[in-house]
Order: sequence, then C-alpha cells, then structure tokens
Amino acid sequence: MSKKFLENTKVFIEQATALLDYRPDIVKQLETPHREVRVELNIRMDDGSIGTFIGFRVQHDDARGPFKGGLRYHHHVDSEEVTALASLMTWKTAVAGVPFGGAKGGIQVDASTLSDAEKQRLTRKFIDGIHDVIGAKSDIPAPDVNTDGQTMAWIFDQFAKYHGYEPGVVTGKPVALGGSEGRTQATGRGCVYATEEILAHEGEELEGKTVVIQGFGNVGTWAAHDYVAKGAKVIGISDISGGYVREEGIDVADAIAYAKENRGLEGWEGAEKIDGAKILTMECDILVPAALGGVLTKENAGDVKARYIVEGANGPTDPEAQDIFDEKGIHVVPDIYANCGGVTVSYFEWSQNMQHFYWDEERVNQELRKVMKKAFADLMAIRRKHECNLRTAAFVLGVSRVKEALDLRGL
Ligand code: NAD
Repeated sequence: MSKKFLENTKVFIEQATALLDYRPDIVKQLETPHREVRVELNIRMDDGSIGTFIGFRVQHDDARGPFKGGLRYHHHVDSEEVTALASLMTWKTAVAGVPFGGAKGGIQVDASTLSDAEKQRLTRKFIDGIHDVIGAKSDIPAPDVNTDGQTMAWIFDQFAKYHGYEPGVVTGKPVALGGSEGRTQATGRGCVYATEEILAHEGEELEGKTVVIQGFGNVGTWAAHDYVAKGAKVIGISDISGGYVREEGIDVADAIAYAKENRGLEGWEGAEKIDGAKILTMECDILVPAALGGVLTKENAGDVKARYIVEGANGPTDPEAQDIFDEKGIHVVPDIYANCGGVTVSYFEWSQNMQHFYWDEERVNQELRKVMKKAFADLMAIRRKHECNLRTAAFVLGVSRVKEALDLRGL
C-alpha cells in the first residue's frame, strides 16, 4: 500500500513535469529525497518488557527553506509512506509560498496500544536518534496522525537537552511553550477556506451545503466545527470506529466533546451508525477525506456522489480515482493546496518564535486566509494556462517553484 502511495505521488509529479516539458534527469532530481534516517527505538514498556520500534525521518528537499513536515505514529508507517508524504510536503510548502522545503517522519507503532507514558518515552527516544538532523534552521517537525501539541512539547524539551532553548525546532506546540494561536485549528480551518474559494469560483456559497467528513481527529473536527460555524450542514462523520450519519445535521459540538472525552466516537449515540467505508459514497455536496491516504480508488470512485472533494488528508485519491472524478465533473481540491493551512500557520509559529513576538488568533486567521486566497488564484491561473485539473495545476505550481530555487542555487 505504501509502495502504491509513493508510485501515485510520482504519477502526479510526472503529469505536471510532462506539461512543464522537464527532461527525465530533472524529474529524477526533483523526485529523489535528500536524506532518509531510520532509527531503532527501544523503550521500557509499562509492563516491564522491552518495546522495539522503528522511526523514520525523510528529508525530501530544502531548496526553498528548511525541511518541514509532520510526524505520524501509525502501524502503516514505513520508508515508502514517509517518502511519499515528505515529497508532498515539498510541493505543498511551495504551493502555499512559505519558505520551507519538505520532510516527514514517523514511528511504526499502533498508537492506540501505547499509554501516555510509553508515548512520551518513545517520542524522547526518537529525538535522541534524530536530534542531529533537525533544528529551527534545518528541519522542523510538526503534528500528524496520532501526534499532537503534547507530543511536540516532548520534542521541544528533549531537543533542548542537546541544543538548548530553541522553540522553532518544532511547530504545533502548545501556546504555553511558544506555539501559535490558531495552529491547532489551522489545517481544518484551511480546508474550509479552500472550500469557500472553489465554491466562489463556481458561483456558489457554503451556506446550506451538506458536508461529509471521513476522520474525526485534529483536521476532521476543526473542519466540521468551521463548516457548521459558516452555515453548512455536516450530515456524516467517521473515525476508526465507523460512520455516523444524521440527515438533519450532526450536533458537531456534541460529537467533538464526546470524541475528546472518549478518545474517539466509539459508543457515541448522537447519530445512526453505519459502516465506515460507506461514508465516502454518501449523497452530499462536499466530501472531506481527513483520515489516511489511498481511500478513494478506482473501486469506489464511481460511487462517489459528492460534487466537491476537499482533501484534508494527504494522498487520499489514487490517480485512477482522479481520472474518474474528472470524467464525472467532480471538483477535487487537492491535498497540497486544501490542507496547506497547517504548514502555513506552522510557518507563522516559526516566524513568531524567531522574533519572540506573538500574534492573536484573529491576525493568524487573517494571514492564513490571505495565503489560501493567493494560492488559489495562482492555481486557477495555471489551470487556465494548461487546461488541466486542479491537482495537476497544484503540482505544476509546486514543482516549478522548487525547480526555480534549485536552478538559482546551482548544483
Ligand atoms: P489525527 O490522528 O488527529 O486523526 C486521524 C483520524 O482518522 C482519527 O479520527 C482516526 O480515528 C481516523 N481514522 C483512522 N483510520 C481511519 C479509517 N480507516 N476510517 C475512518 N477514519 C479513520 O490525525 P490528523 O492530524 O487529523 O490527520 C488526518 C489527515 O490529515 C492525515 O492524512 C494527515 O496527514 C493530514 N494532515 C494533517 C495535518 C495536521 O496539521 N495535523 C496537516 C496536513 C495534513
């Protein structure tokens, strides 16, 4: 599966480089990651046994700025998955126009089996293994699946033991440790801004639209919260425990409170429970995949009824599914634009750390809105020029900005 994810990412890159008429040697240079670090992590488990895990950090490209990308704790994590995600980060930071490159990391572990104490020991062990290759001016991790502000706080602290106080080494920190207001909300919020952009372009508005969201973690919950705040109706949500549907509209605040209290939606009785996979093919205006990659494939794409797909998750759509969506006239707002709100506010956090001067949430949201608006306009200009879909436009934009930086810096 991870191999397929990496291959899919290359397909999307190569669709863009074909339009840009890049030579094969240049494509190879763009696709090849700079460095991969793999570390063995041995920790004492709560029951006294030794737990052995593997951690990865892949630094894909830093032509435009320090490597940047999240850390994922999941049993699917492997070299290929992390490499694909690192590559997506390179193009995403370029699309957003923030001065970073791309990286990603992760630990191969079933996070649901770890106690908080074990998770802390594992995180600190991981930083022991990679502290030499990260830093505020070299490579800056952030949260991803099954990591959060607390995880970032441990990273900040463990890194400080080797290198001293350097808050900019990691973003997505709690505000009390130099995190940014609005960072926790930023990825989901950015998805909603992206939705507003595409709807406005099509002469529609968000108010009254029906929304279905797969994944109810950081991205899914904040997207749901903001969709409802802007007058849309969330009629389906899901997490690892299954799907939850209510045609009259889900009480999102109640679902969020329940999921927080119970570490997920299992047992929530606020909606009818359905099979988790069915959520993707529900009748709705806007579908937001916000869980894992590879969920929209040639097997289910034909059954998708949404008119808009806004990719909160990284890599949710296979190239074959994208072709089907293009044929059906479904607008796909691609991951490297739709979920760039997270890395954009991470950039604001990093800049605030550098200046030791902090913004309020209103300013963060305003600046994020500006970035999302500008990036969308850039994408549309490319789409018009090349007569391609939005995903290819996003890859053309990202890849050409990275190539320009690479050329200027030289070999
Ligand atoms: P998270 O760990 O907070 O939440 C993940 C959610 O997905 C959980 O609700 C989990 O139960 C659910 N899930 C897992 N497997 C599922 C399945 N098979 N079916 C349905 N739900 C399932 O993670 P997150 O930070 O919200 O990240 C979600 C996605 O968004 C990932 O693809 C991530 O790479 C991407 N993303 C996250 C950020 C960020 O800032 N956190 C930024 C950009 C992109």
